Amino acid sequence: MKEKSPLNLYKQLPQTNCGKCGEQTCMAFAAGLIARTRKVEECTPLVDEKKYAKKLDALKTIVAPEIRLVYVGTGEKQFKVGGEDVMYRHLMTFFNKPPFAYDVADNMDEAKLVERVKKISTWRKFYIGKWERIEMIAVRSVTGDPAKFASCVKKVQETTDYPLILCSFDPKVLKAGLEVAAKSRPLVYAANKDNWQEVAKLVHEFNVPVVLSAPFDLDALKSMATTFESMGISDLVLDIGTAPNGKKLQESLQNLLKLRRAALEEGQRDIAYPIIALPINAWFTTTDPVRAAYWESVLTATFVIRGAAILVKHSIEPHSVMPDMHLRFNIYTDPRTPVQVKPGLHTVGTVSKESPTFVTTNFALTYYTVESDIGSNNIAARIMSIGTDGIGVQASVAGGQLTPQKIVDSFKEAGFDFASEMAYPSIVLPGMAAKFSGELEDLFGGKVKVLVGPEDSGRIAGWMEQNWPPKK
Ligand code: SF4
Repeated sequence: MKEKSPLNLYKQLPQTNCGKCGEQTCMAFAAGLIARTRKVEECTPLVDEKKYAKKLDALKTIVAPEIRLVYVGTGEKQFKVGGEDVMYRHLMTFFNKPPFAYDVADNMDEAKLVERVKKISTWRKFYIGKWERIEMIAVRSVTGDPAKFASCVKKVQETTDYPLILCSFDPKVLKAGLEVAAKSRPLVYAANKDNWQEVAKLVHEFNVPVVLSAPFDLDALKSMATTFESMGISDLVLDIGTAPNGKKLQESLQNLLKLRRAALEEGQRDIAYPIIALPINAWFTTTDPVRAAYWESVLTATFVIRGAAILVKHSIEPHSVMPDMHLRFNIYTDPRTPVQVKPGLHTVGTVSKESPTFVTTNFALTYYTVESDIGSNNIAARIMSIGTDGIGVQASVAGGQLTPQKIVDSFKEAGFDFASEMAYPSIVLPGMAAKFSGELEDLFGGKVKVLVGPEDSGRIAGWMEQNWPPKK
């Protein structure tokens, strides 16, 4: 593995601290390169001045991700696959969450096809301040008929601009799909030991990324990857085989780890590509849809945790999608930065003078839980989120990020005038910050009543019945 320390990157920069990149020092720019908030090209002296040519090449090599970054799709919906640097999230962070691709097939009735594509591409769920979505559509050739496949791909593209995976082992079928969709840069699934020469020609001709498939045979996979690279085809994704259960499932997971270790810890460049997993295979082992959806979800979770870079799935039912979405969200947040909301005064519903004002921290999970517990009970309220660097109430009370003075200052900064804005000038503290109540009333000069709310925001509705409006 390459050493990606700021100092190592700094050595390849001009070290003049000229400020042309917007940073005050080259070291700050180097730190930005590691965090991927800056790009090499933004150091214009390095790019423009010939004397830095060698350094530029060296820097590009160092900052390139350990696992190759593959782009699928075009425009706003384009998705990055792979591009990771570390084996485990806690070693730094993961950068590119693995897209979920849901399948449609070329034997579907047109109305059902359109309905499913619409369902996939409009699926969304608001979770901790962000919309989670399904990202791709996998078009499967079931009929084996190139014309039917082309027509299905065309209909999908007329219905959505989501990136596609074109799935068939028959080069004629793939060609028919690519003639329709190549411009939108679909991922081709797949080249295998029988068809690789014809598929290689296709992906070269249409300039699209391709999956190399050699289930349970890492030597064959490595050999195919080396061959494709030597042909100038390097936008590769690897299919190691996804067994839905039993000993073979264990082998699938072991192979996934072996490949990632080889790429990330041993620096084996010839195998350093993103890996696709097919939890959809759960559907080929049972006719019971509930059981299949359950296993598909379990397989998805297992492969996401192990670092699969793209997953093909079938069940779009909430009980199957939601757990995997939440798991993926949490693994692909940056552990170095807690998920935060903007500090300041927020409102829920149509607030009036009679509405209460709750205090919480700007840790996103806390904030959105409080907001949801208030909104779902039809309570109109203000929520002051205090800037605690995204730390929750209990930890920030203990760690000193949440203090009585900070609460008072936050209301001052928001320009909130309790006397004119509230019929009952007061704030509701989280139960876990109860110890601040006396000091807070002093700091507010006795003009704001400090109420202690519940420790669990799920009890806000019950608390309101007992405590609001406040007694004089
Ligand atoms: S533009 Fe380049 S040389 Fe100038 S400060 Fe930024 S990193 Fe350093």
